[in-house]
Amino acid sequence: MNHLERTPLIAVKDLTRGYPEQTKPLFRKLNFELFKGDFTIVLGKSGAGKSTLVRFLIGELRPYKKTVYYKMDDLSTLSDDEIQRYRRNIWIVFQDYKLMDSLSIRDNIMYPLRLDGLSDTVIKKKYKEILQKLNIEDDERLSGKNVSGGEKQKVSIARALINNSEFIIADEPTGNLDWEYTQEIGDVLIEANGSGNTILLITHDIHLLNYIKSKTKVRIFQM
Ligand code: ADP
Repeated sequence: MNHLERTPLIAVKDLTRGYPEQTKPLFRKLNFELFKGDFTIVLGKSGAGKSTLVRFLIGELRPYKKTVYYKMDDLSTLSDDEIQRYRRNIWIVFQDYKLMDSLSIRDNIMYPLRLDGLSDTVIKKKYKEILQKLNIEDDERLSGKNVSGGEKQKVSIARALINNSEFIIADEPTGNLDWEYTQEIGDVLIEANGSGNTILLITHDIHLLNYIKSKTKVRIFQM
């Protein structure tokens, strides 16, 4: 099916945004479409407005009328409750991981399942599956709170997968990682996409873009 026949999951139409401190807009008349099941990469230098775009996409910045749509619904017309419900479909993976410090690494992964009230047996089964998928060794270290940055990032992606989020936005997920872990995170996102997750990767890293492009079909949006 080509894109002409598909309804975008998210559509941005002629979106302009500036900040009072700036003399010219950060971006002007931006057009962007995100399709279900796709792997989309937003590429842009630091300061191009990528995080600002993400804030619009998740409804944190309220857009003007008829500029940001979710499944054809104009986000500007949704109530706060509806925006909350909309956001539950999205999992954001941040550059600085944002794991819950008070919980062990293992509990960080299981947490979304516990919220769903699943039985211990089901939780353990899903947990094992996810670890295997992400190639994370289930050993003593996971009872603690400290693993390497690259592993923390894999854990934050594990949480997105275990939560069954409709789509995953990864905002500079490899900004703090070396090339080896950067490739691993790329692989994990490719695999998640292969299992049906819609992925939006925000990055300034052209090497990561090229790496992913060499392995799977991506849509690229340059800011
Ligand atoms: P990127 O994610 O591409 O690095 P950002 O969207 O974070 O870009 O920000 C782009 C620029 O917009 C920043 O350099 C800053 O000058 C400005 N900016 C971002 N957020 C705010 C804000 N809340 N208030 C004022 N200016 C902001």
